Amino acid sequence: MGLRVLVTGGAGFLGSHLCEKLLQQGHDVLCVDNYFTGSKDNILHLLDHPRFEVIRHDVTFPLYVEVDRIYNLACPASPIHYQFDPVQTTKTSVHGAINMLGLAKRVKARILQASTSEVYGDPEVHPQTEDYWGRVNPIGIRSCYDEGKRCAETLFFDYWRQHQLEIKVVRIFNTYGPRMHPNDGRVVSNFIVQALKGQDITIYGDGMQTRSFCYVNDLIDAMMRMMESRVDFTGPVNIGNSGEYTMRQLAAVVIKLTGSKSQLIFKPIPQDDPKQRRPDISLAKKELNWSPTIPLEEGLNDTIQYFKDRI
Ligand code: NAD
Ligand code: UDP
Ligand code: UDP
Repeated sequence: MGLRVLVTGGAGFLGSHLCEKLLQQGHDVLCVDNYFTGSKDNILHLLDHPRFEVIRHDVTFPLYVEVDRIYNLACPASPIHYQFDPVQTTKTSVHGAINMLGLAKRVKARILQASTSEVYGDPEVHPQTEDYWGRVNPIGIRSCYDEGKRCAETLFFDYWRQHQLEIKVVRIFNTYGPRMHPNDGRVVSNFIVQALKGQDITIYGDGMQTRSFCYVNDLIDAMMRMMESRVDFTGPVNIGNSGEYTMRQLAAVVIKLTGSKSQLIFKPIPQDDPKQRRPDISLAKKELNWSPTIPLEEGLNDTIQYFKDRI
C-alpha cells in the first residue's frame, strides 16, 4: 500500500535516489529542500511523476503537512559546504530535527534520521560499533556538523522516550555514486573529476588515513529497510561498506579505472580529519538482513560514467 512519505533534503545526492526508489515502490513522495547543496537537476526526471511533489522550504522553519513517514536528510554533508555557514549547519541539524520531530508527533508519523559516522569523531575504537560514544572535538571546524548531528540523535531519543515517537536512527558512513556534487570537495568526487580532467590528484596529509565507501544503491536499500523494521528497533545502526581503503589506495583505483595520467600532489591535512574509519555492520546484518552488494570498482565505474557525461 502506498504511504505518504516526506523526504527532507530530497533534492540532494542521497535524497534524490531515495525519492526515486520510494516512487518506484508506489508511495506518494513529498520532497522538501532549500537547494543549498541540492539541485533541481537531481529531481528533474521525477517532476512529471503524478505521485511526486516538491516544496522549496528550509527545515529550520516549521512545516505543516500530513504524512505517514519522514526521512530527515536535510543538511549539507561535505566539509566545504557545512563549514561555509557553520551556524546555519547547526541550526539545520538541531532546529530541523525539532521541527520534523514536532511534525512527526502531531501527525503520528514514523521518522528516520540520517545521522553520520562523524558522531564517532576521530575514533579510538576500530571498526566502529554503535555502542562506542565517539571522540568529537566540540569546538573545532567540524563541530557544527558533528555536534549538530549528535544533538539531533539526542532529540530523536528524547522524543522517543518522552512522546513515544516511532524513531529510526541510521549512522551513514561515506557514501558515493552518481549525483554527488562535482565541487563539494568530497574525496570520491574530487579524485574522479581531477582524474578525468587530467589534473593533479589532491591527497590531504600523507594519504594513509582510511575510509570505507558504500555505493548509493546499497545505502538507500538499507535506509528503506530500517524505516520498515520492527517498531521497537530504533537504532542507532551503522550503514556502510566494510571495505577499508587509504586515500592513496583510492587514488590508485580511480587512476586505473579512468586510465588517467594524473599525478598525486600532497596538500595539508584539514583540522580534526579522522585517521581511520570503518563500520562494524553486524547489527544491520542481523536486524535488517542487509549487507552491501556492490564492490568498490563497480560503483566507481558507474560514478565515473556519471561525471564523464557532465564534464
Ligand atoms: P547533499 O548535500 O547532497 O544533500 C543535502 C540536501 O539537504 C541538499 O539537497 C540541501 O539543499 C538540503 N538542505 C540543506 N540544508 C537544508 C535546510 N536547512 N532545509 C532544507 N533543505 C536543506 O548531501 P547527501 O550526501 O545527500 O547527504 C544527505 C544526508 O545524509 C545528510 O543529512 C548527511 O549529513 C547524511 N550523510 C551523508 C553521508 C554521505 O557520505 N553522503 C554520510 C553521512 C551522513
Ligand atoms: N512543528 C512543525 N510542524 C508540525 C508540528 C510542529 O513544524 O506539524 C514544529 C513547531 O515549530 C514546534 C516544533 O515542531 O515548535 C516542536 O513541536 P513540539 O510539539 O514537540 O513542541 P512545541 O514547541 O510545539 O511545544
Ligand atoms: N581527501 C583527500 N583529498 C581530497 C578530498 C578529501 O585526501 O581531495 C581526504 C580527506 O582529508 C579525508 C578523506 O579524504 O581524510 C575523506 O574526505 P571526505 O571529505 O570525502 O569525507 P569525510 O572526511 O567527511 O569522511
